[in-house]
Amino acid sequence: MVAAASEAITDAPFGSVFADRMALCEFREGQWSQPGVVRTEALSLHPGAHVLHYASGCFEGLKAFRSDGGEAWLFRLDRHVARMRTSAELLCLPVPEPELLAAMIRRTVESNRDEIPPPPGALYLRPTLIGTQANIGAAATSSTEAFLYVLASPVGDYFRGSGMRALRLLVEVDHMRSTPDFGAAKTGANYAAALRHVARARREHDADQVLFCPGGDVQETGASNFLLIDDHEVVTKPVDGSYLDGVTRDSVLRLAADLGYRVTERDITADEVIAWTRRGEAALSGTAAVLAGVGTLVFRGQEYTVGDGGVGRNTRRLREALTGIQHGASPDRFGWLTPV
Ligand SMILES: *Cc1c(COP(=O)(O)O)cnc(C)c1O
Repeated sequence: MVAAASEAITDAPFGSVFADRMALCEFREGQWSQPGVVRTEALSLHPGAHVLHYASGCFEGLKAFRSDGGEAWLFRLDRHVARMRTSAELLCLPVPEPELLAAMIRRTVESNRDEIPPPPGALYLRPTLIGTQANIGAAATSSTEAFLYVLASPVGDYFRGSGMRALRLLVEVDHMRSTPDFGAAKTGANYAAALRHVARARREHDADQVLFCPGGDVQETGASNFLLIDDHEVVTKPVDGSYLDGVTRDSVLRLAADLGYRVTERDITADEVIAWTRRGEAALSGTAAVLAGVGTLVFRGQEYTVGDGGVGRNTRRLREALTGIQHGASPDRFGWLTPV
């Protein structure tokens, strides 16, 4: 019965099921309240709350895993905490101390320990920070009040059932996902800015995602970083503030270097992506999908098959190297796991 119930949860679409408890605290009169753990249920917000009008919200996404023996750990907690602080700063929200944020994430995992699915499933954690001050005249000032909470969602294998299907991407050179200096914020505002382009790509090209390359400069897709891979090299754009500095991206680059690949961080053009994928591989990286192979590109009305259209062997190899560490099957050689 228990197994059936947890299977049902991890069979549900990613992010559609929530764990029972979340850590929560409030910022008010210049300080954070003592964080507590509450049931995952509706929050009370004033209809004039800053986030609802001026989009003062940011979030994180990280995973907790567990062993058969019941131990649990977080993957790269420090990097996610640091990035949330960067996002909070970019959105002029109160910036929580690293210790507060880390403690709230750990408490959320502890409080939902029984809801962590076994690998390849995980407990996906969504720390969220929103401006709650009730003042629709505050367009030009930052919110003096905020909620900080950590939602948790048991998730299965992102590719469950699809056998790790290679993705179909629309290569978009006319539109931007974000602005050149706001791409580093993990914020709903950037998703809102990209949504109509992603929705159109789905509708008109049956694409899974859009690879944003404003003026030909390859940045990332709507929610994942982009890498070119072959038997010898991994190439990706350097971190420059125009796109989200992914923790998975960083982890894959470190593992690739360790496995003997040359790691090259340089600007890439859309034309070069087409040329590369005649012989090499392309992949998307992100916490949810880990490393997902690209099978088809649609560019200027033409369709290009990447390799044989499936997930490339180097992509699989790097993905397995990473999930091996995350699932506790390989040694944690880089110190990426935090026990909870
Ligand atoms: C979260 C996110 C990523 C992936 O970052 P990870 O840290 O690897 O999960 C990439 N792009 C965008 C826009 C994101 O929001």
